Amino acid sequence: MNIHEYQAKKLAREAGVPVPEGDVATTPDEAKAVAERLGDEGFVVKAQVHAGGRGKAGGVKLAKTPGEVKEHAAKIIGMTLVSPQTGPKGKLVRKVLVERAGKIERELYIGFVLNRSISRYVLTYSRMGGVETEETARLHPELILQEPVDPAFGLAAYQARRAASKLGLKGDSAKQAAEAIMGLWKVFANTDASLAECNPLAVMSDGKIVAVDAKIVFDDNALYRHPELQELYDLDEEDPREAKAKKADLSYVSLEGNIGCLVNGAGLAMATMDLVANYGGMPANFLDIGGGADKTRVSEAFRLILADETVKVIFINIFGGIIQCPMVAEGVVEAAREIGVKVPLVVCLKGTGQEKGRTILSSSGLDIHNVETMSEGAHKAVEMARTEALS
Ligand code: GDP
Ligand code: MN
Repeated sequence: MNIHEYQAKKLAREAGVPVPEGDVATTPDEAKAVAERLGDEGFVVKAQVHAGGRGKAGGVKLAKTPGEVKEHAAKIIGMTLVSPQTGPKGKLVRKVLVERAGKIERELYIGFVLNRSISRYVLTYSRMGGVETEETARLHPELILQEPVDPAFGLAAYQARRAASKLGLKGDSAKQAAEAIMGLWKVFANTDASLAECNPLAVMSDGKIVAVDAKIVFDDNALYRHPELQELYDLDEEDPREAKAKKADLSYVSLEGNIGCLVNGAGLAMATMDLVANYGGMPANFLDIGGGADKTRVSEAFRLILADETVKVIFINIFGGIIQCPMVAEGVVEAAREIGVKVPLVVCLKGTGQEKGRTILSSSGLDIHNVETMSEGAHKAVEMARTEALS
């Protein structure tokens, strides 16, 4: 689960990470009022969306006066921010964070992630923080340093001090950075996060260390242990179809293509997407109805695909092992009756009850194209999507 920067900063502050003073605002006037509360000059206005790369996309603006804060907020609130992390459709900005801004001397990077290959959490850090970090990691991986964390003991204070020293810091700055690192570790560990980072962790012109940006991603599988964190969930930031799918207990990820895929089993769903791509097509979604799906769940899944206007053809690829093909067919027909289906269906039913399943679909009046293999199905779906897109 993702959260906003202002929420991450609140958690970070509580754990002892120094973050700038500020507050969130949903209107330009509110933004101005926050600035007036903070002081007379030197502010930053930052788009709050669940994506990074805001600086380069025009979502982070410095302002001298509260009046200027209001002007920037008026431009940023309501804009569709497009960065490499938002996807081509971008994200609508609904709120901004207004903070006191100082002069930055250097931008560092600190972050915690799980490194599965060594079965350790790692502190990752670099002198080269800021908006070019991804580029640095690619071109100069040697500038990204790591400190593995013993899961039983957690991050040791000496490790944080060592990292601060390797970041080129001395004296008070080094001490503050080590404390910031320890604080970030605390948030990361206590919230069962899968990522916690400050990029940049800034060295200000007066030598103070400040987390100018903060990002935390929680591990969904551990959320049941943190009811207080679930309140930070922002439904507005989720793809509405994905949110609906989550409620219906379906694994659904919406994608950019135009071939809707209804599949059972994550592996088969993945293989189906690969095959579609292999034939030159683009799936509109990843959708696994799961092994234990019943008719209601199937029709809910089918409805999700139908609600996607970009879908030109639907590829139903079911392997009936535990799941019964006739049940899937009935679920599809039920949803189709309610909503009406304007696009053709390519159907590959294999396994338990495949004949009966096919009969149910064929006699439903829907535009069905039965195929024998999933490869044939993917090929057919891609061809049909192409003709449908042209017509
Ligand atoms: P991101 O692009 O989404 O990662 O947003 P950031 O919060 O990291 O901001 C991008 C860049 O804007 C930072 O790397 C800084 O250079 C600059 N920036 C952000 N906040 C401040 C601030 O308070 N003061 C100054 N001087 N620059 C800032
Ligand atoms: Mn950043």
